Amino acid sequence: MRAITIAPRQAGTLRMDDIPEPPAREGGMLVRAIAVGICGTDRELVDGIYGQACEGKERLVLGHESLGRVISAPADSGFSVGDMVVGIVRHPDPVPCANCALGEWDMCRNGLFTERGIKQADGFCAERWRTDPGFAVKVTPVLGIAAVLLEPASVLAKAWEHIERIGRRSRWAPQRVLVTGAGPVGLMAAMMGLQRELEVHVMDHNKEGPKPELVRRLGASYHTRFPAFEPDIVIECSGSPKVIVQAVGGSAPGGIVCLTGLGGSQHQASFDAARLNQSMVLENRVVFGTVNANLRHYHDAADALARADRSWLQSIITRRVPLERWQEAYEKRKGDVKTVLVFEN
Ligand SMILES: [Zn+2]
Repeated sequence: MRAITIAPRQAGTLRMDDIPEPPAREGGMLVRAIAVGICGTDRELVDGIYGQACEGKERLVLGHESLGRVISAPADSGFSVGDMVVGIVRHPDPVPCANCALGEWDMCRNGLFTERGIKQADGFCAERWRTDPGFAVKVTPVLGIAAVLLEPASVLAKAWEHIERIGRRSRWAPQRVLVTGAGPVGLMAAMMGLQRELEVHVMDHNKEGPKPELVRRLGASYHTRFPAFEPDIVIECSGSPKVIVQAVGGSAPGGIVCLTGLGGSQHQASFDAARLNQSMVLENRVVFGTVNANLRHYHDAADALARADRSWLQSIITRRVPLERWQEAYEKRKGDVKTVLVFEN
């Protein structure tokens, strides 16, 4: 079967391969790929910045934003033939650590977890893949290909869960949210803020292209500069050190700043630690980071996508590339928001 693979940590090794059918040890459920979303992590994997193949293998199947249709599933799994499903990216470490033992692999303490399409586990960018039913989530078929947004949405479902848990340290009545970065992650953050009936503002440096319109259609305000009010919550999705400094300094007293972005090593980050400390101590601000998601967050994200405006969700996917032209899916083009590699229409 066809699959998109790389030799991890070596740039220029991306290719379409003919690989064997997925091995039974990868799980009792067999799935036919519908689509795979491409994100910045994939481009970094392609550039050889990180990634690790399965033990004893030289190449890694890419793809962590999945969508597929069940070909076969164990009788008692809760899944049926034809169900639309998304596979979970991270799997718990084998020790396991205290968090992985409870199914909170997103909070793994020892770093020995595996991640499909990224770290020591083949991904979903293959015509067929297997998973343990415990690491798959059913999505409503009415979403169509937009259900491929479930994985990025799960990361934001976790971010919102943690923001709310932190918020409950005192009386919690947030009104205004600022999301920095209007890529797919920022758009999911904004969508979930509106679903919580908050006033949502999105800041992004793009004055043109589809992002301003996507934000407005969602019912949020679009800004190209840090707005002139103090948000109660900031969800930072750009990874830019400059924006992070603005977010911490510009948030309301008691504000919560959630960092979800990675700026990459090209940024020379410099924080004025004394000023940061003063801002956080004197007005009870919280800055925290979050990554990945566990099963509970995938289910929360599936609910959020099911409640969202379908045509808006569809329009986040700005390019759909058929498998035959797979190379194009890994190119970054002007006006891209989310690019999806399509296996089956
Ligand atoms: Zn762990």
